[in-house]
Amino acid sequence: TIAVVGSINMDVTAYMYRLPKPGETLHGKDYIVGLGGKGANQAVAARKLGSEVAFIGRIGADDFGKGAERALAAHGLDLSLIHKDHDGATGIAIINVGEGGENYISVIAGSNFRVDASDVEKGRAALEQAKVLLLQLEVPLEASLAAAAIVRERGGTVILDPAPAKDLDVSVLRAVDIITPNESEAGLLLGWQPQTPAEGLRAAKELRARGVKTAVVKLGGKGLAVAGEGIEKILPAFKVTPIDTVAAGDSFNGGLAHALEQGQGIEMALRYAAACGALSTTKKGAAEAAPTSTEVEAFLSR
Ligand code: ADP
Repeated sequence: TIAVVGSINMDVTAYMYRLPKPGETLHGKDYIVGLGGKGANQAVAARKLGSEVAFIGRIGADDFGKGAERALAAHGLDLSLIHKDHDGATGIAIINVGEGGENYISVIAGSNFRVDASDVEKGRAALEQAKVLLLQLEVPLEASLAAAAIVRERGGTVILDPAPAKDLDVSVLRAVDIITPNESEAGLLLGWQPQTPAEGLRAAKELRARGVKTAVVKLGGKGLAVAGEGIEKILPAFKVTPIDTVAAGDSFNGGLAHALEQGQGIEMALRYAAACGALSTTKKGAAEAAPTSTEVEAFLSR
């Protein structure tokens, strides 16, 4: 199984002809309200591919929380480890998507910031069984690291998506197995931002030198670079026409966890993940945009 400790948001996404400038009011095309939050996106992505997923997180006892529960349940996710905060607010994201799929996102964390050791403790049995744990930086780091320790003790693999961008202590890099920053997240961690695939590889090697076993630098449409035990490589991106790049990285991480859980080696798993990321850019929404295993297999065997 796969475990996820992470955020749950409802996303209000406006599809615009172009992104508004500060102080400007613009009419857009249309909007959707859907499940988001990096934790929920990654949990749904792995679940849609067919993995069993245990999800630990928090929502508020409000309308957005009900919407989030409905969406998680519709994807076949178990709600028993989702704590409902009676005096909290469900996290939200206000998203503007421009013509080429580029976006501006404002996040209000709400109950996500209250995820703590008690939530992790409640999920201990699930964590002990997990082969792969997915973490991000939208819930408190202490809770994430407590979960990582439980999973690693049983030989499981911990994948940290260091997003949203934040500088991390080397002790955090050593507490996880795989780290998956995009260009700007790698930039914050290293103090210089990789732009090209070659620079991505250099960034991955630098992250590895800091104590993480495997570093994967995600470069959007330019592909990815990986540095790990016995592998130093650039993988090109799949060619697609993106309409909404929101949560491409989450679909990627969900796909990576799924492939590793299935026993694939790191290189094959990254190829699978890249297909998931690419496919998700061709659909609107966050969690909803993640592909199914049938879609990924059809795409990979084109
Ligand atoms: P994030 O969403 O975290 O910023 P990226 O934008 O780098 O991450 O996307 C994650 C992965 O999704 C990429 O490494 C790539 O495999 C895939 N992907 C993203 N954008 C594109 C694109 N325009 N074309 C093809 N693949 C893409």
